[in-house]
Amino acid sequence: MNKIAFIGAGNMARAIIIGLVNSGVAPQNIMVANPSASKRLNLAQEFGVLQTEDNNKASEFAEVVVLCVKPHLITEVCRQISQAISISGKLFISVAAGTTVAQIQVALSKNSKDNLPPVVRVMPNTPCQLGLGMSGLFASNEVSVEHKAIAEQLMTAVGKIIWLATEDKINDIIAVAGSAPAYFFLFMEAMEKQAQHLGFSSQESRMLVQQTALGAAQMVAHSDEAISTLRANVTSKGGTTHAAIEQFKQDGMEEMVKNAMAAAIARAEEMA
Ligand code: NAD
Repeated sequence: MNKIAFIGAGNMARAIIIGLVNSGVAPQNIMVANPSASKRLNLAQEFGVLQTEDNNKASEFAEVVVLCVKPHLITEVCRQISQAISISGKLFISVAAGTTVAQIQVALSKNSKDNLPPVVRVMPNTPCQLGLGMSGLFASNEVSVEHKAIAEQLMTAVGKIIWLATEDKINDIIAVAGSAPAYFFLFMEAMEKQAQHLGFSSQESRMLVQQTALGAAQMVAHSDEAISTLRANVTSKGGTTHAAIEQFKQDGMEEMVKNAMAAAIARAEEMA
């Protein structure tokens, strides 16, 4: 197994580490680096992974370096690593939103004559914390088949993945998956509020909405039918569900979803 370094020991690093350890990766093959002690020490205590405050030490230890710091820190962190150690032969994986492969490669190159390092850019989402994530992955030209397999192993430990043919598709992934758990939360929030208005207690409202959403998602996950067919199957003409669905249509639900996703893409483009 390749040795893996996590630069930044926050939420996303934690989610991936939990997935890796649960999928059988030996904790001694994982080292986390974080300037503040509490997060890295917690990870070390909970999972037995190695820890350091020194990004260079972690990067030197590993063949695979996972960049898990906030986007505004990525290029500085890369620059510091490449100034301090030889990055030759290492694969870099970045989960940072808004920082391009080219920006990371430039930051990792000491001078313009260096060979560009292999970089995989990943756009994950928060259900990774439960092993139910959905990630889009884009590989730079320098990424080998073996590197791709490593990136896949890493991200399938916390959910499902798709490979993207071009980097601009990362912004589309943000709209469809990265930002999308919150769309479902918003819908569930609205339903929970209405359940309370109908007189259900807050506990009952939460359970009604949560279990219904979970059941619907599981039906989709366990069926080969199109989602539209599953919906049609429970929408008898003239029935109660039909009445609700017609109202959603009249109120322009499809247009709302389209506009919301376009807004997410526009914002991702602005932030790039
Ligand atoms: P986070 O704030 O929980 O973790 C970032 C960690 O980096 C912190 O523990 C911080 O102490 C550490 N850090 C700060 N400066 C550092 C440095 N110089 N060297 C090493 N570590 C340093 O953030 P997060 O939610 O884990 O997000 C990390 C990255 O993942 C971001 O770039 C974000 O865009 C991306 N991402 C996160 C999610 C998500 O669901 N959390 C989804 C998509 C993408």
